[in-house]
Amino acid sequence: MPEELALYAATPDNSRGRIYPEAPPSHRTEFQRDRDRIIHSSAFRRLVYKTQVFVNHEGDLYRTRLTHSLEVAQIARTVARAMRLNEDLVEAISLAHDLGHTPFGHAGQDALNKCMKKFGGFEHNLQSLRVVDQLEKCYASFPGLNLTFETREGILKHCSLTNARELGELGKRFVERQQPGLEAQLSNVADEIAYNNHDVDDGLRSGLIKLRDLTDISFFTQQLNAVKRLYPGIDERQRIHEVVRAMIGELVADLINTSQHRIENFAPDSIDAIRDHNKPLISFSNAFLETQKTLKQFLREQLYRHPKVHSMTEKAHEIISVLFETFQSDYECMPPEHAQRAQQACDKSGTAAAARVVSDYIAGMTDRFALQAHEALGKNITTGS
Ligand code: MG
Repeated sequence: MPEELALYAATPDNSRGRIYPEAPPSHRTEFQRDRDRIIHSSAFRRLVYKTQVFVNHEGDLYRTRLTHSLEVAQIARTVARAMRLNEDLVEAISLAHDLGHTPFGHAGQDALNKCMKKFGGFEHNLQSLRVVDQLEKCYASFPGLNLTFETREGILKHCSLTNARELGELGKRFVERQQPGLEAQLSNVADEIAYNNHDVDDGLRSGLIKLRDLTDISFFTQQLNAVKRLYPGIDERQRIHEVVRAMIGELVADLINTSQHRIENFAPDSIDAIRDHNKPLISFSNAFLETQKTLKQFLREQLYRHPKVHSMTEKAHEIISVLFETFQSDYECMPPEHAQRAQQACDKSGTAAAARVVSDYIAGMTDRFALQAHEALGKNITTGS
């Protein structure tokens, strides 16, 4: 049996509830219900065909947004259990945190943001919230998934002040510089641990980065030397896996120790005390913050800006902007359901509202679907149909 939750953990009893009130679930907690709704959503299923760094069709071995989200949930749950935080809630947040991502990773998001510049911009965190609040349409009694405030609070990791002001209670913390609950803070850091480490793993596997490139990073070298000492006879694939495993282990241990220490010093007696605190309590030590920074910088320079990844970035920009321009200038180029919504939005509130419908449609695409849609447009243009 899990230990009792900490005083300051989120619980269904201290939850700020759902937008559309519902009877409590019979055999699950409120946060388990959130997690289950996320798993059964169509946006969640599409994550399997969305890029993390590598385009989905480049190989079957690389992380996708779906496997990334599962890794985040795994790390976050481990820490949550060790710290007596709400495991169901961190799992729900972690599985939902990337639902609003466009096809083609960050390149796709930048491109869509550019297209949407004069219509209010595009932010993937805000889009994840739109997905769970509005865009999923499968329940008879409410729009979206009608998740609890705490899950939604965790999904909205960042948000511009302009958008925050329009979000009412959920956006308040950005305006008043407050913190979210510890489960939201934790899922955010688990995201960082997951992508830094799996990008090293995928980068090495793809051959775009080499083991020797990483030897300048002392954190990596320490783990590598320890693995070599412990298992001198293993092959390179196993060695990389053991090093990545050890790095994640070290980061998780530091995160738990540092955060516990900070919480003990602050001695919060409720989740509201956590929210009112002037800084996050879930954090690495300074030494590990530095380590994470070095890893991030290395990946930015060696992997994300690698010519091969970069050429995909350019292609993504091209595809997203062509799709956007085409759909925005003729709604009928989208499937009837989206065309109709865009036309209605335009009639009711103008072109910016219609652009949001176009942006929702593109953001929801998988890598493969976006590539095919782009190709189909090319054919229609060349055949004049
Ligand atoms: Mg993520």
